[in-house]
Amino acid sequence: MSTLEIKDLHVSIETEQGARKQILKGVSLTINTGESHAIMGPNGSGKSTLASTIAGHPRYLVDSGSITLDGEDVLDMSVDERARAGLFLAMQYPVEVPGVTMTNFLRTAKTALDGKAPSLRHWTKDVKEAMSQLRIDADFAQRNVNEGFSGGEKKRVEILQLELFKPRFAILDETDSGLDVDALKVVSEGVNREHSKGEMGTLLITHYTRILRYIKPDFVHVFVDGRIAEQGGPELADRLEAEGYDRFGAAAVTTA
Ligand code: ADP
Ligand code: MG
Ligand code: MG
Repeated sequence: MSTLEIKDLHVSIETEQGARKQILKGVSLTINTGESHAIMGPNGSGKSTLASTIAGHPRYLVDSGSITLDGEDVLDMSVDERARAGLFLAMQYPVEVPGVTMTNFLRTAKTALDGKAPSLRHWTKDVKEAMSQLRIDADFAQRNVNEGFSGGEKKRVEILQLELFKPRFAILDETDSGLDVDALKVVSEGVNREHSKGEMGTLLITHYTRILRYIKPDFVHVFVDGRIAEQGGPELADRLEAEGYDRFGAAAVTTA
């Protein structure tokens, strides 16, 4: 078992005006492989800031606190080292990579992650199988990464990466946004397939409760204004679906 531990994390960003603005105000969270956690909360509460900080985005400045993976200091690792250590972040706004086909991108990334090239015969089969399970058309393999992909296609491709790269911890930021119900099901099935193997910890970040009908979290954490305001089991998601974020106070409803 592996453990990703976030302790009393304080994170700031530098605004366009050059001022420092504190976004995360003391977040503590422990995720073990095999567990599924949902972070829910109103817009602007700092959910993506947490995801980007774990991923090592340079814009996010850690003021204090720690992130460790089995005791190893994650904040000390480069973005590449984090990926090799088994952290996977599906971006809320995935980037395009012009001139690089999906096939080349996936194989290059897998080689970099594992430190050796995947066996070609198995790899080709694995890619085909994962693509078909995620209902990704076969000719996507020869298209450039994310170029001209629809929102739903980008999300499927994120989950394709998840299934092929087999991370220890998957951080899925708003994987549900912009998906119709069919795409949401396909994407959720992919996450559940990988999760059911018991070797991955999942951190599912979402504003809406909808995806939690398909991906059942073991733990739910409600983010408000850069802090965890409440924690519970799956029943907390049901309660949020019924009541919204209003009871968490004015800060929670301003941008909802
Ligand atoms: P969430 O994902 O919960 O919607 P974010 O982490 O995206 O929240 O944002 C938290 C707060 O930080 C918001 O007030 C947002 O405006 C601010 N923020 C985040 N990223 C930036 C940025 N790059 N520049 C300016 N403000 C930012
Ligand atoms: Mg947001
Ligand atoms: Mg966000």
